[in-house]
Amino acid sequence: MSEMKIQIDYGLIEEVAKDLYIRALQELPPDILKALQSACERESNPTARTILQTILRSIALSKEKKMLICQDTGLPIYLLSIGEKFILDGYRMKQALSEGARRATQSYPFRGSSLHPLTRENPQTSVGYGLPVIHWDFIPNGDYMEILMVPKGSGSENMSGIEMFTPADGVEALKKYVLDKVVRSGGNPCPPGIIGIGIGGSFDSVGYLAKRAVCRPLGTRNDDPQFAALEEELEEAINSSGLGPMGLGGDTTTLGVHIEWSYTHMSQNPIALNYQCWAARRARARIGIDGRVENGF
Ligand code: SF4
Repeated sequence: MSEMKIQIDYGLIEEVAKDLYIRALQELPPDILKALQSACERESNPTARTILQTILRSIALSKEKKMLICQDTGLPIYLLSIGEKFILDGYRMKQALSEGARRATQSYPFRGSSLHPLTRENPQTSVGYGLPVIHWDFIPNGDYMEILMVPKGSGSENMSGIEMFTPADGVEALKKYVLDKVVRSGGNPCPPGIIGIGIGGSFDSVGYLAKRAVCRPLGTRNDDPQFAALEEELEEAINSSGLGPMGLGGDTTTLGVHIEWSYTHMSQNPIALNYQCWAARRARARIGIDGRVENGF
């Protein structure tokens, strides 16, 4: 009975959705911070080192003064992992996430970055028709739900892309696509960040795979040794390009290459690249069926 009561506490979910958006904008996950610090220590190019030091100072100031890491508050994206025992009403869940994102924007207050694509009218709510973006996933036996909030800034999102290769193009075409895209993007996506790559699936699902790839903490590798080896190879190749922080030269063009994959059609080989800037913001909360909330990244 108490289980049912918690499951329908959409007020709690709304509150969590609101806090997650604000926390994601203020505090970078520890794995990103550590990777930027290590890159700064390793960097041999003086200009690149100065850029990385400036980024690190900006991150520290945002945390200390509870300010935003970057002025681009991004599009609100929520990725849900719902346990089998966490039974919920999908429609009310959507409403709670949307309301949480709206309240975060107006109560902080911060710039609403979402608007109508034709009229460009901005209601300053961060939400609207089709937003927030919500991805649903389900996990066996879980008695909790995890919400991962990712505010996605435009500078790096605009440098993302999808290409529908065929099997005849081979793996070499995928590698070339990634390297070309990163080099052509230059400093626009505010490197160094995470290069998220989706391989396989369909036109619509490959983009989601790439998005999930940028959400994976730095320092992790794909479970499949073939994809893990490809991640390492691409990471090395991108960093040896010399593009560097903000595209102004240096040893660190990316902090990590992550790949997520799925089976695909026998006559397709789609790839998507989701570029993530250094401000790789994400905030996570786990809500138990007992109503307990645990925060993380
Ligand atoms: S690309 Fe990232 S760091 Fe650059 S302005 Fe956008 S959100 Fe900020």
